[in-house]
Amino acid sequence: MEIKSIITDNFDSCYVCGRPRQQFHHIIGAAYRKKSEKYGLIIPICEECHREVHDSPDQELNKRLKAIAEADFIQIYSYEAWMENFHKNFL
Ligand SMILES: [Zn+2]
Ligand SMILES: [Zn+2]
Repeated sequence: MEIKSIITDNFDSCYVCGRPRQQFHHIIGAAYRKKSEKYGLIIPICEECHREVHDSPDQELNKRLKAIAEADFIQIYSYEAWMENFHKNFL
């Protein structure tokens, strides 16, 4: 799969902490995984931050990344397009 991201051009470093990238994270996952790929809602991430996104009980990082993704998407497309595709406002 060719990775596309509207959030960052730097695929070498973890988007969250700046350490070397080990993985990629789909910001809107599960049923929206394919749409995340289509619209570039993907970030490079290190293993530790990736665990935090998915497993942290407070979901703080997960919510923060979703808000960033929505804001960046809206800059390119529109809020209406966001809601049509992802059905939930994170801002
Ligand atoms: Zn990291
Ligand atoms: Zn992930």
